Amino acid sequence: MADQDKERRVLVLGGGVCGLMAALTLARKGVPVTVFEQADQPGGLARGNRRGENFYDLGVHMLHAFDVEVYDTIKDLMGEERIEVELDAKIRWGGSYYRYPLQFADMLRGMNPFTLMHCSAGLFLTQMLGKIFGVKEPVDAREALIQLYGKPLYRFFFEEFTERYWGIHPRDLSATFIKSKMPRLSAVDIIKRQLAKIGLKEKAGRSVESALLQETLHYSRNGAEAMPRRLLEAVEAAGGEVRLGRTVEAVHLNDSGRARAVTVRCPADGTEETVEGVAVISTLPMPYLAKSLQPEAPEDVMRAAGNLRFKAIAVYGLLVKKEKAIDALYIYYRRHVFHRVGEPKNAGLKVTPSDHTVLIVEMTCEEGDAKWRGDESILERVYADLESEGICTRDEVVETHILTCPTGYPIFDLGFEPSLELVQNHIASVPNLRSVGRQGGFCYPNMHQAMRMGIDASEEIRVELDMD
Ligand SMILES: Cc1cc2nc3c(=O)[nH]c(=O)nc-3n(C[C@H](O)[C@H](O)[C@H](O)COP(=O)(O)OP(=O)(O)OC[C@H]3O[C@@H](n4cnc5c(N)ncnc54)[C@H](O)[C@@H]3O)c2cc1C
Repeated sequence: MADQDKERRVLVLGGGVCGLMAALTLARKGVPVTVFEQADQPGGLARGNRRGENFYDLGVHMLHAFDVEVYDTIKDLMGEERIEVELDAKIRWGGSYYRYPLQFADMLRGMNPFTLMHCSAGLFLTQMLGKIFGVKEPVDAREALIQLYGKPLYRFFFEEFTERYWGIHPRDLSATFIKSKMPRLSAVDIIKRQLAKIGLKEKAGRSVESALLQETLHYSRNGAEAMPRRLLEAVEAAGGEVRLGRTVEAVHLNDSGRARAVTVRCPADGTEETVEGVAVISTLPMPYLAKSLQPEAPEDVMRAAGNLRFKAIAVYGLLVKKEKAIDALYIYYRRHVFHRVGEPKNAGLKVTPSDHTVLIVEMTCEEGDAKWRGDESILERVYADLESEGICTRDEVVETHILTCPTGYPIFDLGFEPSLELVQNHIASVPNLRSVGRQGGFCYPNMHQAMRMGIDASEEIRVELDMD
């Protein structure tokens, strides 16, 4: 490494799509950059997992084109490898299939009239009362869901599902998650949309929700694998460095409280080194970063970091001897051991042998539990549930590959906000350090949003370092 490079090198921690996009942005501006990624391949949550001749996504990962700059960059990088896919997602609920995101017309068709009337009345009542008396700040996820959907719909649809998904009752989850993540199912919007369909009302502008309904997604014949691979190649082509198989163990601050170096370990040979840099962009889980700072963060920050938890995921990739198994890209289920089943072949995934298909079966779990380990009892439940849905039989499953991640989803426990703020403030007190991305931001971005966070962080760092 040349001396003048050492003096300008930015260190990027984590080689998921956020870290890689941050590195690409910097490298293309001529800034020396090194990415450290603990895995032996790039992509993080969006990596491709090759088993035999097939790729298994860690949960089907397709790119949304909402961020034009991100999309144009990826389109350019992926070239011929990019394929376009129409969003076709469904929810299995009470014996029927509903389009996802939830649409009122489907509910009309699928619900029994009594339940439908009950749910609609609840939704209207909630929103009328909200209009008359104002909407009070919800104290927990239960209240936030009721404000959005009304009590009957909450009880009928969301209560049990939310608890099974998170292993936490909605009353013990923060309202922040619901407010930021769930689409509002407004009674007025529903009627407006129905009237618009029969030409009685001017069509409203494209809301995010309606855009999602007709969206084109972007994928590859190797599944999610192509995008991070192409990003890594682009970083290297622009002069950046990506070091795989390097676990970040510590981020060192100097006496003025600025980040000056990171210590990385190579698990393959046990070696450790400390690499200097002028700034650090971290996409590691925020609590991990806070605990890795040297000198150590104050005790209250360390405690707060311990309060920020993640929900682990286990994803079972099945090779199935069947041409096609489901009639969608993915379907959400409420009452099975899994919560979502995807069939990426329906989005163009190449499967070998060609008369087989791949199923991506997703579930939340705890690190090290039976789902995580793939115990026989869980496998049997997975196969039985798939069979009960007519997706495939036990005999049609040729191979099952278990993929796991301890940090699938940040958990917005009731009262997590002060802990998050404390940790965020401590990290923000280091002027040349940014903690971004899904893990680093302790939030729920999609890939395009995570990549946007990477671009923005790299621009901020360039300004901070006066690199223009
Ligand atoms: C099941 C599931 C399905 C999804 N589907 C979609 C989808 O269809 N479309 C979409 O747009 N988004 C989807 N997402 C969201 C998407 O996965 C994320 O937004 C995106 O991948 C986040 O990228 P990131 O780089 O911020 O984080 P990550 O991908 O988590 O990257 C962090 C990186 O840091 C590395 N790391 C961690 N600790 C260390 C350490 N100590 N040292 C070195 N490296 C370390 C990790 O290995 C990882 O590579 C999905 C998410 C899940 C969980």
